[in-house]
Amino acid sequence: MSLFPENTPEDIGVETFAQTISDWHHKEGRHNLPWQGSQDPYRIWLSEIMLQQTQVATVTNYYHRFLKRFPTLADLAQASQSDVLAYWAGLGYYARARNLHRCAQTIMSKWGGRFPETPEEIETLPGIGRSTAAAIAAFSFGARAPILDGNVKRVFTRFFGVFGYPGTKAVETKLWSIAQSILDHGPAHLDMASYTQGLMDMGATRCTRAKPNCNACPLAHACYANRNNAQQTLPTPKPRKAIPQRECHMLVLVHENKVLLEKRPQNGIWGGLWCLPQFNDYNAFETKCRNWGVTPSKANQMAPFQHVFTHFKLQITPWWITMNKLPLAEPSGQLCWQSLNELAETGLPAPVQKILQGVNKSLVTNQSR
Ligand code: SF4
Repeated sequence: MSLFPENTPEDIGVETFAQTISDWHHKEGRHNLPWQGSQDPYRIWLSEIMLQQTQVATVTNYYHRFLKRFPTLADLAQASQSDVLAYWAGLGYYARARNLHRCAQTIMSKWGGRFPETPEEIETLPGIGRSTAAAIAAFSFGARAPILDGNVKRVFTRFFGVFGYPGTKAVETKLWSIAQSILDHGPAHLDMASYTQGLMDMGATRCTRAKPNCNACPLAHACYANRNNAQQTLPTPKPRKAIPQRECHMLVLVHENKVLLEKRPQNGIWGGLWCLPQFNDYNAFETKCRNWGVTPSKANQMAPFQHVFTHFKLQITPWWITMNKLPLAEPSGQLCWQSLNELAETGLPAPVQKILQGVNKSLVTNQSR
């Protein structure tokens, strides 16, 4: 049953929007997420960063594991970057983990270990944008500041009938002004934690991307999209562009149950993670192999596969070569030999994990024969 049975559509506008969402959250929103029930800004910040571009179901395990290893902000600040990346490996968007680490160190050194409290202060920290800063401040300190993540943009564009791709500056500015206006016109004693969580829950459980559940939505009778049957046209989709395709070759060089890994540069994809030596084309791969005294043959080629990033697709061809004696002088610089039994503790990108799991499986199968 609607919360507003006798209201006309105009009854939910910017003045009553916030209270409607907060009331709905109290009744029907999510209250048992692992990071709820605490006002500790460290835990809230960690969950907000993990949840960017990632589903709750995926984040939950990572969140518990991460907190077990780094229970406090000070623990995180003191850890090495490699250690932090190892506990992030598989979650993707690794700049988040590097910024998380830098942010913890900044709070220890510049803020005396105390998490700043206002959205403006929080936004000055590495890796924290306006919406995330507002969410942390609302959940931890009850601050009255608007959020505007992807889910909230979807709710606003549908409810207020805002056309145009939300990724453009003009539309985003309009959505921010709606978000601010809702708070400016909302009740003085709004429960900010409940309103903020309610907006997130609306996007996650009612106003979903493909099949919004308008029948169970407290905004339904006043919603532009629902009244105009425009749920599938709002938000306006991004103009389509062909996703570029790239290719690379990865070398799996194995010696005495160890594999050669190379640390990625800090910037760019998989920044700071350990990876297999990677080459943009076959010639570069073959030249490097020769320099290292290794001769690849067709028999060394593993099955190619594709890994999809946001902006391009990467066709990966792995080459597995086992050496009886060390092909290199002592590894130096960004190269190291890593035991195949210790890969779980190493920060590896998902496709590299996939390749090495295949190698490990074959080695175990062959040994047991
Ligand atoms: S009525 Fe439907 S489209 Fe409108 S906000 Fe609710 S779930 Fe979204």
